[in-house]
Amino acid sequence: MAKNYLTGIKPTGKLHLGNYIGVLKNIKKIQEEGNCIFFIADLHALTLPIEPETLKQNSIDIACFYLAAGLDYNKSILFLQSQVSEHAELNAILQNYLYMGELSRMTQFKDKTAKTNNNSIGVGIFTYPILMACDILLYNCNVVPVGEDQVQHVELTRTLATRFNNRYGETFVIPTAQVNKVGKRIMSLSDPTKKMSKSDPKGDIFLKDDLKTIRKKIMSAVTDLGDEVIYDPINKPGISNLLTIYASLKDISVEEACNHFKDCHRYGDFKKEVADVVCEEIGKLQERYNFILENKEYLKALEIGKNKAKLLANKTLKRVKKKVGFIDE
Ligand code: ATP
Ligand code: MG
Repeated sequence: MAKNYLTGIKPTGKLHLGNYIGVLKNIKKIQEEGNCIFFIADLHALTLPIEPETLKQNSIDIACFYLAAGLDYNKSILFLQSQVSEHAELNAILQNYLYMGELSRMTQFKDKTAKTNNNSIGVGIFTYPILMACDILLYNCNVVPVGEDQVQHVELTRTLATRFNNRYGETFVIPTAQVNKVGKRIMSLSDPTKKMSKSDPKGDIFLKDDLKTIRKKIMSAVTDLGDEVIYDPINKPGISNLLTIYASLKDISVEEACNHFKDCHRYGDFKKEVADVVCEEIGKLQERYNFILENKEYLKALEIGKNKAKLLANKTLKRVKKKVGFIDE
């Protein structure tokens, strides 16, 4: 079966190494394997407070980084979610087919609102998995490349699509989450028990950090008191995270990375080698990013992408409207 991929990033903050390893790094590969749709999930970015100008800049940044990572806009589709209104329209319909209990069980909702009083939690962050399901289902995609943190939301999308199909007959393709073997969850450098995140940026390596800063952050990453470079996420989360970063950027397995460092007994030497690899890869990415930003290449990509996305999304939306009993226009 042909592979139809879809993946999105929220413009909630500055992109980091986790976003690169989890999503951007794989663009070239999946583009060779199937049809790809990439989008900037700007509607989702409103789920937490954000300044309008910041949202705008973050959105442009993501478009440029997608392109810098190898997105070919003549082959794949790149668009801004807010410019394809079918997402919001499908959301208004599909929100009726998931239950409060199902949404309450989403760990990301629990994590992101753990420290907030219920009276100041926006409804959008609770219902966000429904909009995410709409993003996926509108394009009949069967593979959703994501970091591990998003797997639960893709599972919920499957539940929703199956429920709808059972009720109204075959309508949606049932998607599958695809998670990297290495680098499915890059951790914070300052607290390696927590995921590297845009919205909680302590310990992030940002893709726009200058290389000196990146090197400094890696050299001062939290590790442990030992001197052995081994993969043991429970007892050595910091070292394990750096090994994962090294392995994924080198395109090798974690075992191969461990083997490479088996005779290394100084964390400083180990970190220096990790920093070299990260700086080389991110340095090249930044050069392409700067060129794309300066030449405003993203504008053309987004314009072409929006039109292609609208055609596809509208077809699905029409099908859904008919199924639920809305009268044809
Ligand atoms: P936020 O904190 O606003 O949720 P985020 O850093 O989690 O931001 P998202 O926009 O939610 O980023 O996710 C974009 C993509 O990057 C998703 O596929 C997600 O699974 C992946 N991703 C995010 N963080 C990591 C990480 N630390 N390691 C691997 N993949 C990640
Ligand atoms: Mg996230």
